[in-house]
Amino acid sequence: RTKSYQRGSHTLYTREMGIEIRERALLMQHLHKAFDAERLFLMYQPQIRLSDRKVIGFEALLRWRTDEGQMIAPTDFIPLAEHSGLIISLGAWVLRTACYTMAQLLEKGHTLDRMAVNVSVIQFRQPDFIELVKRALHDSGLAPRYLELEITESVTMSGTDQFEDALASLKAIGVQIAIDDFGTGFSSLSYLDKLPVDRLKIDRAFVMQIDTVGGPRIAELITQLGKKLGLSVIAEGIETETHFDVLHKMGCEEGQGFLIARPMLDNAIDTWLMNWRQ
Ligand code: C2E
Ligand code: MG
Ligand code: MG
Ligand code: MG
Repeated sequence: RTKSYQRGSHTLYTREMGIEIRERALLMQHLHKAFDAERLFLMYQPQIRLSDRKVIGFEALLRWRTDEGQMIAPTDFIPLAEHSGLIISLGAWVLRTACYTMAQLLEKGHTLDRMAVNVSVIQFRQPDFIELVKRALHDSGLAPRYLELEITESVTMSGTDQFEDALASLKAIGVQIAIDDFGTGFSSLSYLDKLPVDRLKIDRAFVMQIDTVGGPRIAELITQLGKKLGLSVIAEGIETETHFDVLHKMGCEEGQGFLIARPMLDNAIDTWLMNWRQ
């Protein structure tokens, strides 16, 4: 049963299915091996400005291809990596790789504003996280303002002094901060107002709702909240022209999603950028 990966499936080992302890241990072994064997890699999804479709940057997204060539989705293995502690070295690798990719894109003359990198709560809590970020920037030669760290509301909710200090230090370095999957967690609004964040990411669930009876209400609420707080807003999961138009009209500035592009390998970025909007 542990080998029951489905090709192309993104639903195996969902948390709802409940993973048996033994399976989890085995999967963890596989994951550790995959990291060593460089079977984990990054793909990059473009982020654009909705007003003129200019490409602003990319979000780095982690992928695991097993020896059998099957893809396992990050939502299936990141909880395991967090559980086993592998997320710390894995996350450090993600950060460095994404910084290098971005530095190269800039060096090639592409005008981009940001590389967005997802950061796990476990990573964020490491005492040397700030040092890690500094080193990734220094070693890649990437200026801090080009790096955006995406943190989730669960991270922001861990409202400790240590968390606030870490955020302040990151802002002091010049890195940008986005709150990922915004609206799905339980941020307190007064807390949000205090935090030095730059951007809210409207979760895909609220973009999907645009097509339903409830419509774009939540997406609109988040957009307006962002405006009131002086934060920029980006929507994820834009799949249709309707999503795009509705979000644009409500004042959401930026977006990403399959309508624009699926996540791509680093070696596909050049060509994609050349063909975009030509
Ligand atoms: P996320 O950061 O909210 O990323 C957005 C997810 O939506 C990505 O899934 C992306 O491929 C997918 N997506 C983008 N546009 C569309 C669309 O138009 N339609 C649909 N149906 N999906 C779209 P992915 O790559 O499977 O990543 C899932 C989650 O795993 C991410 O959610 C993020 O929380 C986490 N993750 C990914 N890479 C990393 C990483 O390097 N480190 C950490 N800690 N977490 C990561
Ligand atoms: Mg993200
Ligand atoms: Mg997100
Ligand atoms: Mg999401």
